[in-house]
Amino acid sequence: MSEKQASFYASVERNFDKAAALTDHPKGLLEQIKVCNAIYQMNFPVKIGNSYQVIEAFRVQHSHHRLPTKGGIRFSHLVNKEEVMALASLMTYKCALVDVPFGGAKGGVSVSPRKYTEEQLEKITRRYTVELVRKGFIGPGIDVPAPDYGTGSREMAWILDTYQQLKNGELDSAACVTGKPVNQNGIRGRTEATGRGVFYGLKEMLSNEADCKAWGLKPGIEGKTMVIQGLGNVGSYTGTISIDEGDVKVIAVSEIEGTIVDENGIDIHKLIKYRKDKKSILGFPGTKTLPKRDNWVGIKCDILVPAALESQIHKGNAKKVKAKIIAEAANGPVTAEAEEILLKKGVVVVPDMYLNAGGVTVSYFEWLKNLSHVRYGRIEKRFDERAYTNLVGLVEKMTGKVVSNKEKEFLTRGADEVDLVRSGLEETMITAYNQIREVYRRKRKAKDLRTAAFINAINKVASDYMTLGIFP
Ligand code: NAD
Repeated sequence: MSEKQASFYASVERNFDKAAALTDHPKGLLEQIKVCNAIYQMNFPVKIGNSYQVIEAFRVQHSHHRLPTKGGIRFSHLVNKEEVMALASLMTYKCALVDVPFGGAKGGVSVSPRKYTEEQLEKITRRYTVELVRKGFIGPGIDVPAPDYGTGSREMAWILDTYQQLKNGELDSAACVTGKPVNQNGIRGRTEATGRGVFYGLKEMLSNEADCKAWGLKPGIEGKTMVIQGLGNVGSYTGTISIDEGDVKVIAVSEIEGTIVDENGIDIHKLIKYRKDKKSILGFPGTKTLPKRDNWVGIKCDILVPAALESQIHKGNAKKVKAKIIAEAANGPVTAEAEEILLKKGVVVVPDMYLNAGGVTVSYFEWLKNLSHVRYGRIEKRFDERAYTNLVGLVEKMTGKVVSNKEKEFLTRGADEVDLVRSGLEETMITAYNQIREVYRRKRKAKDLRTAAFINAINKVASDYMTLGIFP
Protein backbone atom coordinates (compact mmCIF):
# COMPACT_ATOMS: atom_id res chain seq x y z
CA MET A 1 0.00 0.00 0.00
CA SER A 2 1.33 3.44 -0.87
CA GLU A 3 1.65 6.24 1.66
CA LYS A 4 -0.98 8.21 -0.25
CA GLN A 5 -3.63 5.54 0.32
CA ALA A 6 -2.77 5.01 3.98
CA SER A 7 -3.18 8.73 4.52
CA PHE A 8 -6.70 8.75 3.04
CA TYR A 9 -8.15 6.89 6.04
CA ALA A 10 -5.95 8.99 8.36
CA SER A 11 -7.30 12.13 6.66
CA VAL A 12 -10.92 11.07 7.21
CA GLU A 13 -10.16 10.28 10.89
CA ARG A 14 -8.36 13.62 11.31
CA ASN A 15 -11.26 15.55 9.80
CA PHE A 16 -13.70 13.64 11.98
CA ASP A 17 -11.70 14.39 15.15
CA LYS A 18 -11.45 18.08 14.25
CA ALA A 19 -15.25 18.34 14.01
CA ALA A 20 -16.00 15.96 16.90
CA ALA A 21 -13.97 18.21 19.22
CA LEU A 22 -16.47 20.99 18.50
CA THR A 23 -19.47 18.88 19.60
CA ASP A 24 -20.66 17.99 23.12
CA HIS A 25 -21.20 14.27 22.56
CA PRO A 26 -19.70 11.73 24.99
CA LYS A 27 -16.30 10.34 24.01
CA GLY A 28 -17.58 6.75 23.79
CA LEU A 29 -20.38 7.74 21.44
CA LEU A 30 -17.99 9.60 19.16
CA GLU A 31 -15.69 6.58 19.12
CA GLN A 32 -18.61 4.31 18.19
CA ILE A 33 -19.60 6.65 15.35
CA LYS A 34 -16.03 6.72 14.04
CA VAL A 35 -15.10 3.03 13.94
CA CYS A 36 -15.95 0.56 11.18
CA ASN A 37 -18.57 -1.92 12.46
CA ALA A 38 -17.82 -4.88 10.17
CA ILE A 39 -15.01 -5.65 7.74
CA TYR A 40 -15.11 -8.61 5.39
CA GLN A 41 -11.83 -9.31 3.61
CA MET A 42 -11.88 -12.15 1.09
CA ASN A 43 -9.67 -13.95 -1.42
CA PHE A 44 -11.28 -16.05 -4.13
CA PRO A 45 -10.04 -17.84 -7.24
CA VAL A 46 -11.20 -16.95 -10.76
CA LYS A 47 -10.14 -18.80 -13.90
CA ILE A 48 -8.58 -16.30 -16.29
CA GLY A 49 -7.52 -17.91 -19.59
CA ASN A 50 -5.80 -21.16 -18.73
CA SER A 51 -4.81 -20.29 -15.18
CA TYR A 52 -6.37 -19.35 -11.88
CA GLN A 53 -5.96 -15.93 -10.31
CA VAL A 54 -6.53 -15.22 -6.64
CA ILE A 55 -8.52 -12.00 -6.30
CA GLU A 56 -8.44 -9.93 -3.12
CA ALA A 57 -11.65 -8.05 -2.28
CA PHE A 58 -13.39 -6.26 0.58
CA ARG A 59 -16.76 -5.12 1.84
CA VAL A 60 -16.73 -2.74 4.79
CA GLN A 61 -19.89 -1.79 6.67
CA HIS A 62 -18.94 1.32 8.56
CA SER A 63 -22.10 1.95 10.55
CA HIS A 64 -25.11 -0.16 11.50
CA HIS A 65 -26.95 2.68 13.21
CA ARG A 66 -29.33 2.54 10.26
CA LEU A 67 -29.99 -0.39 7.97
CA PRO A 68 -29.42 -1.32 5.24
CA THR A 69 -25.90 -0.07 4.83
CA LYS A 70 -25.11 1.45 1.45
CA GLY A 71 -22.09 2.23 -0.69
CA GLY A 72 -20.48 1.63 -4.07
CA ILE A 73 -18.09 -1.04 -5.29
CA ARG A 74 -14.71 0.03 -6.60
CA PHE A 75 -12.66 -1.95 -9.11
CA SER A 76 -9.05 -0.79 -9.08
CA HIS A 77 -5.60 -2.29 -8.64
CA LEU A 78 -5.06 0.33 -5.90
CA VAL A 79 -7.88 -1.03 -3.70
CA ASN A 80 -6.81 -1.91 -0.16
CA LYS A 81 -8.48 -2.32 3.22
CA GLU A 82 -7.76 1.19 4.54
CA GLU A 83 -9.05 2.80 1.37
CA VAL A 84 -12.34 0.88 1.55
CA MET A 85 -12.63 1.74 5.27
CA ALA A 86 -12.17 5.44 4.49
CA LEU A 87 -14.75 5.32 1.69
CA ALA A 88 -17.23 3.39 3.87
CA SER A 89 -16.84 5.97 6.68
CA LEU A 90 -17.52 8.82 4.26
CA MET A 91 -20.70 7.04 3.16
CA THR A 92 -22.12 7.13 6.69
CA TYR A 93 -21.57 10.89 7.00
CA LYS A 94 -22.80 11.47 3.44
CA CYS A 95 -26.05 9.59 4.02
CA ALA A 96 -26.65 11.43 7.30
CA LEU A 97 -26.00 14.81 5.66
CA VAL A 98 -28.53 14.32 2.87
CA ASP A 99 -31.06 12.49 5.07
CA VAL A 100 -30.77 9.18 3.26
CA PRO A 101 -31.71 6.61 5.93
CA PHE A 102 -28.79 4.20 5.48
CA GLY A 103 -25.58 3.35 7.28
CA GLY A 104 -22.37 3.69 5.28
CA ALA A 105 -20.58 0.86 3.47
CA LYS A 106 -18.16 0.35 0.59
CA GLY A 107 -16.78 -2.51 -1.47
CA GLY A 108 -13.51 -2.89 -3.30
CA VAL A 109 -12.09 -5.50 -5.64
CA SER A 110 -8.38 -5.31 -6.27
CA VAL A 111 -8.37 -5.58 -10.07
CA SER A 112 -7.63 -3.18 -12.88
CA PRO A 113 -10.69 -3.45 -15.19
CA ARG A 114 -8.65 -2.46 -18.28
CA LYS A 115 -6.62 -5.67 -17.97
CA TYR A 116 -9.62 -8.00 -18.24
CA THR A 117 -12.12 -8.86 -20.93
CA GLU A 118 -15.82 -8.28 -20.35
CA GLU A 119 -16.33 -11.99 -19.81
CA GLN A 120 -13.56 -12.13 -17.20
CA LEU A 121 -14.95 -9.08 -15.38
CA GLU A 122 -18.36 -10.76 -15.32
CA LYS A 123 -16.83 -13.85 -13.70
CA ILE A 124 -15.07 -11.73 -11.08
CA THR A 125 -18.19 -9.69 -10.30
CA ARG A 126 -20.42 -12.74 -10.02
CA ARG A 127 -17.94 -14.56 -7.77
CA TYR A 128 -17.60 -11.48 -5.53
CA THR A 129 -21.42 -11.37 -5.25
CA VAL A 130 -21.55 -15.04 -4.25
CA GLU A 131 -19.04 -14.32 -1.47
CA LEU A 132 -21.18 -11.40 -0.24
CA VAL A 133 -24.35 -13.55 -0.25
CA ARG A 134 -22.60 -16.40 1.58
CA LYS A 135 -21.52 -14.12 4.42
CA GLY A 136 -24.78 -12.15 4.56
CA PHE A 137 -23.12 -8.97 3.29
CA ILE A 138 -25.74 -8.10 0.66
CA GLY A 139 -29.53 -7.82 0.63
CA PRO A 140 -32.30 -5.18 0.34
CA GLY A 141 -32.44 -4.77 4.14
CA ILE A 142 -28.80 -5.65 4.89
CA ASP A 143 -26.30 -3.96 2.59
CA VAL A 144 -26.98 -2.49 -0.87
CA PRO A 145 -24.02 -1.88 -3.23
CA ALA A 146 -23.89 0.61 -6.12
CA PRO A 147 -21.35 1.73 -8.76
CA ASP A 148 -18.10 3.51 -7.91
CA TYR A 149 -14.73 4.03 -9.61
CA GLY A 150 -14.24 1.32 -12.25
CA THR A 151 -17.80 -0.06 -12.13
CA GLY A 152 -21.13 0.94 -13.67
CA SER A 153 -24.63 -0.30 -14.49
CA ARG A 154 -23.25 -3.37 -16.30
CA GLU A 155 -21.60 -4.71 -13.13
CA MET A 156 -24.74 -3.90 -11.11
CA ALA A 157 -26.84 -6.00 -13.53
CA TRP A 158 -24.47 -8.96 -13.00
CA ILE A 159 -24.75 -8.51 -9.22
CA LEU A 160 -28.56 -8.43 -9.39
CA ASP A 161 -28.71 -11.53 -11.59
CA THR A 162 -26.34 -13.51 -9.34
CA TYR A 163 -28.25 -12.47 -6.22
CA GLN A 164 -31.59 -13.44 -7.75
CA GLN A 165 -30.28 -16.85 -8.81
CA LEU A 166 -29.31 -17.54 -5.22
CA LYS A 167 -32.39 -15.96 -3.63
CA ASN A 168 -35.08 -17.25 -5.95
CA GLY A 169 -38.51 -15.82 -5.15
CA GLU A 170 -37.36 -13.08 -2.76
CA LEU A 171 -40.03 -10.42 -3.44
CA ASP A 172 -37.81 -7.34 -2.98
CA SER A 173 -34.64 -8.83 -4.46
CA ALA A 174 -34.34 -6.04 -7.08
CA ALA A 175 -33.50 -3.68 -4.19
CA CYS A 176 -30.31 -5.65 -3.36
CA VAL A 177 -28.21 -3.29 -5.52
CA THR A 178 -28.71 0.16 -7.11
CA GLY A 179 -27.29 1.85 -10.18
CA LYS A 180 -28.80 -0.93 -12.32
CA PRO A 181 -29.68 -0.44 -16.00
CA VAL A 182 -33.16 1.06 -16.40
CA ASN A 183 -34.46 -2.13 -18.04
CA GLN A 184 -33.17 -4.16 -15.09
CA ASN A 185 -35.14 -2.37 -12.37
CA GLY A 186 -32.93 0.71 -12.40
CA ILE A 187 -34.14 4.29 -12.31
CA ARG A 188 -33.94 7.04 -14.90
CA GLY A 189 -31.44 9.71 -13.87
CA ARG A 190 -29.12 7.49 -11.77
CA THR A 191 -26.17 7.41 -14.19
CA GLU A 192 -25.88 11.20 -14.26
CA ALA A 193 -26.89 11.67 -10.59
CA THR A 194 -23.51 12.31 -8.98
CA GLY A 195 -22.42 14.84 -11.61
CA ARG A 196 -25.84 16.49 -11.57
CA GLY A 197 -25.66 16.71 -7.78
CA VAL A 198 -22.23 18.37 -8.04
CA PHE A 199 -23.80 20.97 -10.33
CA TYR A 200 -26.81 21.58 -8.05
CA GLY A 201 -24.50 21.87 -5.03
CA LEU A 202 -22.22 24.43 -6.68
CA LYS A 203 -25.17 26.38 -8.01
CA GLU A 204 -26.70 26.58 -4.55
CA MET A 205 -23.50 27.66 -2.78
CA LEU A 206 -22.87 30.33 -5.43
CA SER A 207 -26.42 31.66 -5.16
CA ASN A 208 -25.85 33.22 -1.74
CA GLU A 209 -24.59 36.76 -2.30
CA ALA A 210 -23.37 37.37 1.24
CA ASP A 211 -21.34 34.14 1.32
CA CYS A 212 -19.86 34.83 -2.11
CA LYS A 213 -18.87 38.30 -0.98
CA ALA A 214 -17.18 36.91 2.13
CA TRP A 215 -15.28 34.42 -0.04
CA GLY A 216 -14.34 37.10 -2.58
CA LEU A 217 -16.40 35.44 -5.32
CA LYS A 218 -18.81 36.85 -7.85
CA PRO A 219 -22.26 35.35 -7.12
CA GLY A 220 -23.82 32.90 -9.58
CA ILE A 221 -22.46 29.86 -11.37
CA GLU A 222 -22.96 31.37 -14.84
CA GLY A 223 -19.73 32.20 -16.66
CA LYS A 224 -17.47 30.52 -14.10
CA THR A 225 -14.42 28.69 -15.48
CA MET A 226 -13.91 25.04 -14.55
CA VAL A 227 -11.08 22.49 -14.72
CA ILE A 228 -11.93 18.78 -14.42
CA GLN A 229 -9.65 15.89 -13.45
CA GLY A 230 -11.11 12.53 -14.54
CA LEU A 231 -13.57 12.22 -17.41
CA GLY A 232 -15.36 9.14 -16.08
CA ASN A 233 -18.92 8.98 -14.83
CA VAL A 234 -18.76 11.82 -12.30
CA GLY A 235 -16.39 14.13 -14.20
CA SER A 236 -18.17 13.87 -17.55
CA TYR A 237 -21.66 14.58 -16.21
CA THR A 238 -20.37 17.38 -13.98
CA GLY A 239 -18.87 18.94 -17.12
CA THR A 240 -21.77 18.49 -19.53
CA ILE A 241 -24.49 19.54 -17.07
CA SER A 242 -22.49 22.56 -15.81
CA ILE A 243 -22.05 23.72 -19.41
CA ASP A 244 -25.61 22.97 -20.58
CA GLU A 245 -27.53 24.20 -17.56
CA GLY A 246 -25.13 26.57 -15.79
CA ASP A 247 -23.35 28.26 -18.68
CA VAL A 248 -20.00 27.24 -17.17
CA LYS A 249 -16.84 27.23 -19.33
CA VAL A 250 -14.68 24.10 -18.96
CA ILE A 251 -11.19 25.29 -19.86
CA ALA A 252 -9.15 22.16 -19.10
CA VAL A 253 -9.56 18.40 -18.68
CA SER A 254 -7.07 15.94 -17.22
CA GLU A 255 -7.19 12.19 -17.85
CA ILE A 256 -4.75 9.29 -17.44
CA GLU A 257 -3.12 10.14 -20.79
CA GLY A 258 -2.52 13.83 -20.01
CA THR A 259 -4.04 17.28 -19.58
CA ILE A 260 -5.53 19.47 -22.32
CA VAL A 261 -6.50 23.16 -22.19
CA ASP A 262 -8.51 25.59 -24.27
CA GLU A 263 -9.21 28.99 -22.70
CA ASN A 264 -12.18 29.40 -25.06
CA GLY A 265 -13.93 26.40 -23.54
CA ILE A 266 -13.98 22.68 -24.34
CA ASP A 267 -17.15 21.01 -25.63
CA ILE A 268 -17.31 18.07 -23.21
CA HIS A 269 -20.00 16.23 -25.21
CA LYS A 270 -17.66 16.18 -28.21
CA LEU A 271 -14.62 15.35 -26.07
CA ILE A 272 -16.34 12.29 -24.60
CA LYS A 273 -17.11 11.03 -28.10
CA TYR A 274 -13.55 11.84 -29.22
CA ARG A 275 -12.04 9.86 -26.33
CA LYS A 276 -14.31 6.90 -27.06
CA ASP A 277 -13.07 6.80 -30.65
CA LYS A 278 -9.39 7.66 -30.10
CA LYS A 279 -8.99 6.14 -26.61
CA SER A 280 -7.38 9.44 -25.55
CA ILE A 281 -8.29 13.09 -24.96
CA LEU A 282 -4.97 14.26 -26.42
CA GLY A 283 -5.16 16.02 -29.77
CA PHE A 284 -8.76 17.16 -29.32
CA PRO A 285 -9.24 20.01 -31.83
CA GLY A 286 -8.54 23.50 -30.45
CA THR A 287 -6.73 22.28 -27.32
CA LYS A 288 -3.08 22.21 -26.36
CA THR A 289 -1.48 19.53 -24.20
CA LEU A 290 0.32 20.59 -21.03
CA PRO A 291 3.87 19.27 -20.47
CA LYS A 292 2.88 17.16 -17.44
CA ARG A 293 -0.42 15.46 -16.59
CA ASP A 294 -0.31 16.85 -13.04
CA ASN A 295 -0.21 20.45 -14.31
CA TRP A 296 -4.04 20.55 -14.01
CA VAL A 297 -3.66 21.40 -10.31
CA GLY A 298 -2.09 24.80 -10.99
CA ILE A 299 -4.42 26.07 -13.74
CA LYS A 300 -6.02 29.43 -12.92
CA CYS A 301 -9.79 28.98 -12.83
CA ASP A 302 -12.85 29.58 -10.67
CA ILE A 303 -13.70 25.93 -9.93
CA LEU A 304 -11.26 23.02 -9.81
CA VAL A 305 -13.09 19.68 -9.94
CA PRO A 306 -11.06 16.61 -8.95
CA ALA A 307 -13.29 13.72 -10.13
CA ALA A 308 -10.87 10.79 -10.25
CA LEU A 309 -9.36 9.43 -7.05
CA GLU A 310 -8.37 10.35 -3.49
CA SER A 311 -5.27 12.30 -2.36
CA GLN A 312 -4.80 14.11 -5.68
CA ILE A 313 -4.23 17.48 -3.99
CA HIS A 314 -1.69 16.89 -1.27
CA LYS A 315 0.91 18.69 0.83
CA GLY A 316 3.30 18.63 -2.15
CA ASN A 317 1.11 20.42 -4.70
CA ALA A 318 -1.51 22.36 -2.67
CA LYS A 319 0.53 25.56 -2.89
CA LYS A 320 0.22 25.48 -6.69
CA VAL A 321 -3.59 25.73 -6.63
CA LYS A 322 -4.82 28.94 -8.28
CA ALA A 323 -8.52 28.09 -8.19
CA LYS A 324 -11.00 29.92 -5.96
CA ILE A 325 -13.13 26.84 -5.28
CA ILE A 326 -12.22 23.17 -5.07
CA ALA A 327 -15.30 21.09 -5.77
CA GLU A 328 -14.69 17.60 -4.37
CA ALA A 329 -16.56 15.48 -6.89
CA ALA A 330 -14.31 12.51 -6.06
CA ASN A 331 -14.06 11.05 -2.58
CA GLY A 332 -11.14 12.37 -0.55
CA PRO A 333 -9.28 14.19 -3.36
CA VAL A 334 -7.82 16.74 -0.93
CA THR A 335 -5.73 15.44 1.98
CA ALA A 336 -6.21 16.97 5.44
CA GLU A 337 -2.70 18.50 5.26
CA ALA A 338 -3.40 20.03 1.86
CA GLU A 339 -6.66 21.49 3.10
CA GLU A 340 -4.85 23.44 5.82
CA ILE A 341 -2.66 25.04 3.16
CA LEU A 342 -5.65 25.78 0.93
CA LEU A 343 -7.73 27.34 3.69
CA LYS A 344 -4.84 29.66 4.54
CA LYS A 345 -4.75 30.69 0.87
CA GLY A 346 -8.48 31.48 1.05
CA VAL A 347 -9.54 28.64 -1.27
CA VAL A 348 -13.08 27.37 -0.57
CA VAL A 349 -13.21 23.58 -0.42
CA VAL A 350 -16.67 22.10 -0.99
CA PRO A 351 -16.48 18.72 0.76
CA ASP A 352 -17.01 15.35 -0.93
CA MET A 353 -19.45 14.07 1.65
CA TYR A 354 -21.85 16.79 0.56
CA LEU A 355 -20.98 17.52 -3.05
CA ASN A 356 -20.96 14.00 -4.45
CA ALA A 357 -23.99 12.81 -2.46
CA GLY A 358 -26.20 12.92 -5.58
CA GLY A 359 -25.33 9.32 -6.41
CA VAL A 360 -26.48 7.86 -3.11
CA THR A 361 -29.53 10.14 -3.08
CA VAL A 362 -30.81 8.79 -6.40
CA SER A 363 -29.76 5.27 -5.35
CA TYR A 364 -32.12 5.76 -2.41
CA PHE A 365 -34.88 6.71 -4.86
CA GLU A 366 -34.09 3.57 -6.88
CA TRP A 367 -34.25 1.40 -3.74
CA LEU A 368 -37.65 2.92 -2.84
CA LYS A 369 -38.87 2.31 -6.41
CA ASN A 370 -37.77 -1.35 -6.17
CA LEU A 371 -39.51 -1.82 -2.83
CA SER A 372 -42.73 -0.20 -4.09
CA HIS A 373 -42.57 -2.13 -7.39
CA VAL A 374 -43.85 0.85 -9.37
CA ARG A 375 -42.22 3.49 -11.56
CA TYR A 376 -42.28 7.09 -10.30
CA GLY A 377 -44.92 9.14 -12.12
CA ARG A 378 -46.87 6.11 -13.39
CA ILE A 379 -49.85 6.70 -11.14
CA GLU A 380 -50.26 10.48 -11.28
CA LYS A 381 -48.82 11.66 -14.64
CA ARG A 382 -52.03 11.50 -16.72
CA PHE A 383 -54.19 12.71 -13.85
CA ASP A 384 -51.97 15.77 -13.43
CA GLU A 385 -51.95 16.45 -17.16
CA ARG A 386 -55.75 16.38 -17.29
CA ALA A 387 -56.03 18.69 -14.26
CA TYR A 388 -53.54 21.20 -15.76
CA THR A 389 -55.36 21.06 -19.13
CA ASN A 390 -58.66 21.85 -17.40
CA LEU A 391 -57.01 24.75 -15.59
CA VAL A 392 -55.55 26.21 -18.79
CA GLY A 393 -58.97 25.79 -20.45
CA LEU A 394 -60.59 27.69 -17.59
CA VAL A 395 -58.05 30.53 -17.88
CA GLU A 396 -58.69 30.74 -21.64
CA LYS A 397 -62.44 30.85 -21.03
CA MET A 398 -62.20 33.52 -18.32
CA THR A 399 -59.74 35.76 -20.19
CA GLY A 400 -61.02 35.13 -23.70
CA LYS A 401 -57.42 34.60 -24.82
CA VAL A 402 -56.01 31.49 -26.45
CA VAL A 403 -52.85 29.88 -25.05
CA SER A 404 -50.54 28.73 -27.87
CA ASN A 405 -50.06 24.97 -28.38
CA LYS A 406 -46.39 25.25 -27.41
CA GLU A 407 -47.22 27.01 -24.15
CA LYS A 408 -50.08 24.58 -23.51
CA GLU A 409 -47.72 21.63 -23.93
CA PHE A 410 -45.29 23.18 -21.45
CA LEU A 411 -47.96 24.10 -18.89
CA THR A 412 -49.88 20.83 -18.92
CA ARG A 413 -47.08 18.28 -18.91
CA GLY A 414 -47.22 15.72 -16.08
CA ALA A 415 -43.94 14.69 -14.46
CA ASP A 416 -42.05 11.65 -15.75
CA GLU A 417 -39.75 9.54 -13.60
CA VAL A 418 -36.65 11.50 -14.61
CA ASP A 419 -38.35 14.84 -13.81
CA LEU A 420 -39.23 13.62 -10.32
CA VAL A 421 -35.75 12.18 -9.74
CA ARG A 422 -34.10 15.47 -10.74
CA SER A 423 -36.52 17.46 -8.62
CA GLY A 424 -35.89 15.23 -5.59
CA LEU A 425 -32.14 15.48 -6.13
CA GLU A 426 -32.17 19.27 -6.43
CA GLU A 427 -34.31 19.59 -3.31
CA THR A 428 -31.91 17.29 -1.42
CA MET A 429 -28.78 19.20 -2.47
CA ILE A 430 -30.33 22.59 -1.61
CA THR A 431 -31.62 21.46 1.80
CA ALA A 432 -28.35 19.77 2.76
CA TYR A 433 -26.26 22.78 1.71
CA ASN A 434 -28.37 25.12 3.81
CA GLN A 435 -28.09 22.81 6.81
CA ILE A 436 -24.29 22.87 6.47
CA ARG A 437 -24.35 26.63 5.99
CA GLU A 438 -26.40 27.04 9.14
CA VAL A 439 -23.73 25.21 11.19
CA TYR A 440 -20.94 27.07 9.38
CA ARG A 441 -22.59 30.41 10.11
CA ARG A 442 -23.58 29.74 13.72
CA LYS A 443 -20.63 27.68 14.97
CA ARG A 444 -17.93 30.27 14.73
CA LYS A 445 -15.36 27.56 15.43
CA ALA A 446 -16.25 25.62 12.25
CA LYS A 447 -14.12 27.73 9.97
CA ASP A 448 -14.57 25.60 6.87
CA LEU A 449 -17.41 23.83 5.07
CA ARG A 450 -15.98 20.34 5.69
CA THR A 451 -15.91 20.78 9.46
CA ALA A 452 -19.45 22.19 9.35
CA ALA A 453 -20.59 19.22 7.24
CA PHE A 454 -18.92 16.77 9.64
CA ILE A 455 -20.54 18.42 12.70
CA ASN A 456 -23.91 18.18 11.00
CA ALA A 457 -23.44 14.51 10.11
CA ILE A 458 -22.07 13.60 13.55
CA ASN A 459 -25.04 15.28 15.25
CA LYS A 460 -27.50 13.33 13.11
CA VAL A 461 -25.82 9.95 13.68
CA ALA A 462 -25.45 10.71 17.41
CA SER A 463 -29.13 11.55 17.60
CA ASP A 464 -29.97 8.18 15.99
CA TYR A 465 -27.84 6.33 18.54
CA MET A 466 -29.52 8.26 21.39
CA THR A 467 -32.98 7.44 20.02
CA LEU A 468 -32.04 3.79 19.69
CA GLY A 469 -31.26 3.92 23.40
CA ILE A 470 -27.73 2.63 22.89
CA PHE A 471 -26.24 5.77 24.44
CA PRO A 472 -28.95 7.09 26.76
P1 NAD B 1 -14.90 6.30 -13.24
O1 NAD B 1 -14.13 5.05 -13.19
O2 NAD B 1 -16.14 6.34 -14.05
O3 NAD B 1 -13.99 7.53 -13.74
C1 NAD B 1 -12.80 7.93 -13.16
C2 NAD B 1 -11.92 8.54 -14.25
O4 NAD B 1 -10.75 9.09 -13.65
C3 NAD B 1 -11.46 7.53 -15.29
O5 NAD B 1 -11.80 7.97 -16.58
C4 NAD B 1 -9.94 7.46 -15.08
O6 NAD B 1 -9.24 7.21 -16.27
C5 NAD B 1 -9.64 8.84 -14.52
N1 NAD B 1 -8.39 8.91 -13.75
C6 NAD B 1 -7.88 8.03 -12.88
N2 NAD B 1 -6.70 8.46 -12.39
C7 NAD B 1 -6.47 9.66 -12.97
C8 NAD B 1 -5.41 10.60 -12.88
N3 NAD B 1 -4.36 10.41 -12.07
N4 NAD B 1 -5.49 11.74 -13.61
C9 NAD B 1 -6.55 11.97 -14.42
N5 NAD B 1 -7.58 11.11 -14.55
C10 NAD B 1 -7.54 9.96 -13.84
O7 NAD B 1 -15.19 6.65 -11.71
P2 NAD B 1 -16.35 7.57 -11.13
O8 NAD B 1 -17.52 6.70 -10.81
O9 NAD B 1 -16.53 8.75 -11.98
O10 NAD B 1 -15.71 7.98 -9.73
C11 NAD B 1 -14.78 9.03 -9.60
C12 NAD B 1 -14.72 9.49 -8.16
O11 NAD B 1 -16.03 9.90 -7.74
C13 NAD B 1 -14.28 8.43 -7.15
O12 NAD B 1 -13.58 9.06 -6.11
C14 NAD B 1 -15.59 7.90 -6.62
O13 NAD B 1 -15.47 7.32 -5.34
C15 NAD B 1 -16.40 9.19 -6.58
N6 NAD B 1 -17.85 8.98 -6.56
C16 NAD B 1 -18.48 8.28 -7.55
C17 NAD B 1 -19.86 8.14 -7.50
C18 NAD B 1 -20.63 7.45 -8.60
O14 NAD B 1 -21.87 7.49 -8.58
N7 NAD B 1 -19.99 6.84 -9.58
C19 NAD B 1 -20.59 8.67 -6.43
C20 NAD B 1 -19.92 9.40 -5.45
C21 NAD B 1 -18.55 9.55 -5.53
